[in-house]
Amino acid sequence: MEKTLILIKPDGMRRRLAGLSIDRLDNAGFELIGAKVVSVTEKLAREHYALLKDQPFFEELIKYIRGDFHGVSNRRVLALVYRGEDAIKAVRGVVGATNPEQAAPDTIRGTFGRITTRGQFENVVHASGNAEDAEREIKLWFEPGELVE
Ligand code: UDP
Ligand code: MG
Repeated sequence: MEKTLILIKPDGMRRRLAGLSIDRLDNAGFELIGAKVVSVTEKLAREHYALLKDQPFFEELIKYIRGDFHGVSNRRVLALVYRGEDAIKAVRGVVGATNPEQAAPDTIRGTFGRITTRGQFENVVHASGNAEDAEREIKLWFEPGELVE
């Protein structure tokens, strides 16, 4: 059994896509074991995306995940932990490719994602990329007692 972190990003929250995303993840057979709404601090955003700090899109990405492009009242992310067999890779399959234009049409990103006129991928959800990231990210977003295990 693996655990993986999903975030419904500020674009997903603003566009009321949290329920649809959860529905798809539930129906793919994964088990929801943790959930909370988080107002993302600068510190949390930078720690979460620390591995991307040298990418040209990093500063825009920090603004995006903090909700800077989606209105003051939408400074919200829904953090979820799902558990299941091969969950990390399998959830990535439900979520789809990073670039919404390349994501398969039946994935969350392929259905709902967009590329902004600034060139940023607003792809609705985050999902941990591998086992190491999943462990680090779950620790960053959740206290151990907040997960049902
Ligand atoms: N991103 C972007 N432009 C790029 C690559 C990434 O705007 O060329 C954003 C996008 O929102 C993506 C996030 O940065 O989800 C993190 O990038 P990563 O490569 O980790 O993709 P992911 O793991 O989210 O699929
Ligand atoms: Mg990633």
